[in-house]
Amino acid sequence: MVNSPYGGKLKISVELKDREKIDDHARGALSITPFTDFFYDSLKISDGSYSPIEGFMSEEEVESVIKKERLLSDLPWTIPIIFAVDEKVYAKVKEGEEIFLKDPNGEIYGSINVDGKFHLRKKEIAIGVYGTHDPKHPNVEDLFNNYGDFAISGKVRIFREVPLPGNRYELHPEQARDRFKKMGWKNVVAYQARNPPHVAHEYLQKVSLEFPGIDGLLIHLVVGRLKKGDYSADAILNSYEAFIDNYHKKEKTMLGSLSITMRYAGPKAAIFLAIVRRNFGATHYIVGRDQAGVGNFYDPYAAHKKFDEMDIGIIPLKFRDTFYCRKCRGITSDNVCPHSPEYRMIISQTRIREMLKQGEDIPEEIMRPEVTAVLRKGGSID
Ligand SMILES: [Zn+2]
Repeated sequence: MVNSPYGGKLKISVELKDREKIDDHARGALSITPFTDFFYDSLKISDGSYSPIEGFMSEEEVESVIKKERLLSDLPWTIPIIFAVDEKVYAKVKEGEEIFLKDPNGEIYGSINVDGKFHLRKKEIAIGVYGTHDPKHPNVEDLFNNYGDFAISGKVRIFREVPLPGNRYELHPEQARDRFKKMGWKNVVAYQARNPPHVAHEYLQKVSLEFPGIDGLLIHLVVGRLKKGDYSADAILNSYEAFIDNYHKKEKTMLGSLSITMRYAGPKAAIFLAIVRRNFGATHYIVGRDQAGVGNFYDPYAAHKKFDEMDIGIIPLKFRDTFYCRKCRGITSDNVCPHSPEYRMIISQTRIREMLKQGEDIPEEIMRPEVTAVLRKGGSID
């Protein structure tokens, strides 16, 4: 059996209806277009990815998550799931009402049964979640500049499938579980990524597959809203396709996308992203160096420690910094390689992007040529 969902059961609130029925249902009610992050979150709440959460969090629950790292049910949880709105919407929304959600094309796809509304204490959230209120942190910048000052809470329902950035690879937790079953996988290790693969990533994936009892690897790519300089969803997916075709066993590897906005909250985000993968059925989770971090905001091994403090029912496979060592003549890590740093080819995504832009050759000790070839065709967004 693959892993049980977090909290015991997948909470799914997808109730597919045809367009006429949706329009009838929504007639006369308030409908709004959520900011992209909440659009994605609403879909992931309803398909069970965020189980046991069934809706956007109340003020009390947000506070509990920030201060105690627990849901009101006492289950450990690290990232508040909020639905921010501006003052105009806040004024119109009434508790007890159902409001409707429109996709980026202006068509209704779901609803929230509003059970509360509140003023967002942004500074408290920034410090409580991201450990900083520095606007150089991308999520803090969003919180202060792109999110409304208020929030509404309540259960979410989704009435139809909507296109997402990773569409052809987007997985629902139930689909992933079915596919694992068909593959005969019981123990599944999930790998979180948001960049094209370089050889150090390959090392983590393959070493994980060597663990006794692990049947398969889910490479789960976060491809939601992107920052400037990020690779497009297609570039990431196409490069992974080429990589898996050439360097992984098909019967041991599955590629999927997760269209959500990345939260760079370091250790807290690493825990959140692991909970999501547990909902997909993963039993093990790869935790690399500076997992879910950004810039120099977090201790690169804070996520490793966080998994010692919090039990969320998934086994972390922790890895130290990995690199190509010229003395070892292979990919290794500072856990096992005895050589001094001068022999290491350190691989930064920023440097890879620069090299691609300049048309420079990327050494095969850093990136597989098949991956480089895909990325040469264009990828990062400016
Ligand atoms: Zn070495």
